Formats: sequence, C-alpha cells, structure tokens
Amino acid sequence: MLFDSHTHLNFQAYSEDLAEVIKRCQDFPMSLVNIGAALDTSVKAIELAKNNQNFYASLGLHPIHVFDEDFAVDKYQALISDNKNKVVAMGETGLDYYHFDEVEEKYRVSFADYVAKQKEVFVKHIQLAKENNLALVVHGRNDKNNSLNCYQDILSVLKEQQVKKAVIHCFGGSLKDAQDFISAGFYLGFTGIITFDKTGVLESIVKIMPADRILIETDAPYLTPQPHRGKRNEPVYTQYVAEKIAEILNLTKEEVIEQTFENAKNLFLSK
Ligand SMILES: [Zn+2]
Repeated sequence: MLFDSHTHLNFQAYSEDLAEVIKRCQDFPMSLVNIGAALDTSVKAIELAKNNQNFYASLGLHPIHVFDEDFAVDKYQALISDNKNKVVAMGETGLDYYHFDEVEEKYRVSFADYVAKQKEVFVKHIQLAKENNLALVVHGRNDKNNSLNCYQDILSVLKEQQVKKAVIHCFGGSLKDAQDFISAGFYLGFTGIITFDKTGVLESIVKIMPADRILIETDAPYLTPQPHRGKRNEPVYTQYVAEKIAEILNLTKEEVIEQTFENAKNLFLSK
C-alpha cells in the first residue's frame, strides 16, 4: 500500500475540501502520517487519525515556530497517553537555518539564540519520543546561501541523544551528509522535489540508499511533484515520488510502493 510518511492534511490549505481529499486517499487506498507543526495542528492530526482508517499522527512544534509558542511537554505527553494507537511519532522538530531572517525580524533574536532555542526544543521532542517509544520526524534546512550546514548539527544531536528511530524528512543535504545519516542507521524521506530536481544530488543519494531506509512523502500542501507542479499538493501524489524512485533504481513503481510501505511500518508502527 502507498504510504505518505509526511503530510499536513491538518493544515488550513485543506479547510475547504478536506473530505474530498481524504476520500481520494481512501479510494486509492493509502496510509499516511499527518505531521503537527504546533499544538493546534498536532491536535488536528490526532483527530484525523481517529476518524480515518490508516491515518496516523506525529506531534510537534516546528523549529521555525519555537518562539511563537512554548513547547508544553506535559500537554504533548497527555496527547500521547490518550491516543496511544494513533500517535506514532514526535515532530516535526529539528534545525532550520533558512528562515532565520523572518524570526530575527519578528523576535529580535541573534542567530546563536535562535539555534540554541531550536536545539532545546529538539531535545525535548527526543526525550518524549524515547520515553514513549515513538519515532522521531526531523526537519532540517540549510541557510539561504547553503553555507551553514544544519545536517551535521542535527546528526550530532541525534548521536549525543542516542536516538535510534528517526527519519530526516525532505532530505536536502549533500551526498556526504546522506552517507553519514545512513551509516548511523537513520531513514531519509524523499518528496516531489525529486521529480524536478536538476542538480542530480537527490538522484545520486537515492542510488546509495539501502532499500530498507527509503521513505517517500509529499509534505503536502507543499512541494507538488510533476506532473502537477504549481497546484496544491495532496497525499495521493506520493505515487509520483514512487514512480521517480523506481525509474532511478530500475524497479517497478509497485516494488517501490511495497518496500517503502514496509519501511514506514518498521519505523512508525513496530513497537
Ligand atoms: Zn512538513
């Protein structure tokens, strides 16, 4: 079964036609994890998981939102405890150097303070994930000049904290970064970007991936793959990511769908 390992049907972008988007998922059929980016969208992810077969939830405060609200550990713990079969991961959490400008403008913080706060919140997610035996969904993004590498900093945190079960979603690091995450046993998530990436970096990364560490995702409503670029993304479009990976690896689309489903099950659903 197709498995979208990172999607946001819990976001405003679907407020008008959520039922229809969900129906297309159920008709496909497919499984997915809705990813929280703040407390309200985490709650919404759980609600969607409760109401729909094969839907799961990940709870977290996105690194770009760490100054918008406090990461209330007790509230997240209560949500996990009350929804044991539906909450499968913590995140998205991690380090984002890309959006520093906007946060600096809004909160007048230095880059060092921005990163320190992101790390503090990241570690709190890790602790909750470990205490509850949940996977970790990690977000990383380098700065706008691509000169500050968030990925090596993320890897240091994961190693320091002895994290075992994590996916680096929408992987955007170098081939070397990818090799380092693979060696440490982590999963990498690939989005629709792979269908239009002209740098060749993602393709070279897919080629060195162990089959059992590849996840596919939409990150919907963002990052719409070909042939729908320019429109809002949605979970069923995960199939185009599978198709592209199949093409790169000389496999059938069905083989990629099967393998990535097993991988998602191992990461999110095995206790
Ligand atoms: Zn996301």
